[in-house]
Amino acid sequence: MKITKQKGTKDIFFDEVKIWEYIEENIRQICKENNVSEIRTPVFEATELYARGVGNDTDIVNKEMYTFIDKGGRSITLRPELTAGVVRSYIENGMNSLASPLKFWYVANMYRYEKMQKGRYREFAQFGIEIFDSDSYLADVETIKISYELMKRLGLYDKVILSLNSIGCKECRDKYIKKFKEYLMPNLDNMCETCKVRFEKNPLRILDCKEEKCNKILENAPLITDNLCPDCKQDFENVKSALDKLNIDYKVDKKIVRGLDYYNKTVYEWTSKDLDLAVGGGGRYDGLVEILGGQSCPAVGFGIGMDRLVLLLTQYNLPKDIDNDIKLFIATTNESGYIEATKLSEILKDNKIVVDINITNKSLKSQTKYADKNNMNFIAFFGEDELNNNKIRIKNMKNANQVDFDISDLDGILKFIKEGNESNA
Ligand code: AMP
Repeated sequence: MKITKQKGTKDIFFDEVKIWEYIEENIRQICKENNVSEIRTPVFEATELYARGVGNDTDIVNKEMYTFIDKGGRSITLRPELTAGVVRSYIENGMNSLASPLKFWYVANMYRYEKMQKGRYREFAQFGIEIFDSDSYLADVETIKISYELMKRLGLYDKVILSLNSIGCKECRDKYIKKFKEYLMPNLDNMCETCKVRFEKNPLRILDCKEEKCNKILENAPLITDNLCPDCKQDFENVKSALDKLNIDYKVDKKIVRGLDYYNKTVYEWTSKDLDLAVGGGGRYDGLVEILGGQSCPAVGFGIGMDRLVLLLTQYNLPKDIDNDIKLFIATTNESGYIEATKLSEILKDNKIVVDINITNKSLKSQTKYADKNNMNFIAFFGEDELNNNKIRIKNMKNANQVDFDISDLDGILKFIKEGNESNA
């Protein structure tokens, strides 16, 4: 029987993998420029970490986790998100004693047993940032700024919308939830089953409901943003005013509450303008370090879906300049050809030329076909004749110009390739 990939997973190769690499390179570069360091944590953790860190009443923990008992009888879960893992690592490695704030980034695969739809997979990747130990609103702004820089650099900034909200601190939220529940109570019978459950377990999430009958009831509901304590209100004003000064566009969406339990104060989401798709989201989570057993420490972060960025770039035919390397294929007929080609390739690679050398017993004709199919810009021939005469024949694949060079004439070879490449452009 044919073995196929699991539902919700995918193989990424050729053109698509280039888009992934392009995004990853930009992320790495932006994080380096902002002095954010990379963190890598395990793919699997104790189930308890997510039960406590993400929240028992969330969809992730309730329905979506890949959980199993390992051979030692431990309950293990494949990470459904990474914030809890990074916080666990922060606590376990005593990072609270280090100079702060600490700023981490990651690109990593996550696992959620979800219903499949466009852009929604069971294995997907997120780019995330987590910043520890700054209770200043400027840390919130910094995470938004970094995600903004990424959108700009990928050419996606005008294709996405940044929506902000504040869900306040525990005190104003508890007061608000009471008020919200009082408002909903008389209408509860007319709400969907999910909302009825959420009413008891996680009332804020009712604001996420897409059902028309619930939306009607929610139309006049009190909103958390209008019920913030003076401190939280000022904090939210500060975030907005800093974004205004940085010319980062946003809109306030008072219904954003985020799915995970641990957020407080500013929360935000990036969504696609044209596709009905969340691209990323984040916010402050000041209570999580303590919930997971560490000393209380403010923190803020975001997660952006890599698969969704790929989808958007593909949708808009971006980036335009992804594959602008100069590529040379060296055709050979025996081992000596391979060895000589490898020696020559060292200098070519130093000059940023991609070199692909024949490793088959195929004819020169079929090697030429391979070079053509692989979009090589140049093909060089190192057959027996050339080897015996210390020569190499190089051909420009686009205009069919070809020249025989002495193998020692490196300047001539490089000039032919560079000039040929410019005339091809
Ligand atoms: P979350 O961790 O649920 O807040 O999600 C943050 C971002 O990760 C979302 O905005 C999506 O871009 C992405 N994401 C979440 N779940 C999935 C999934 N199942 N498949 C692909 N991307 C996802």
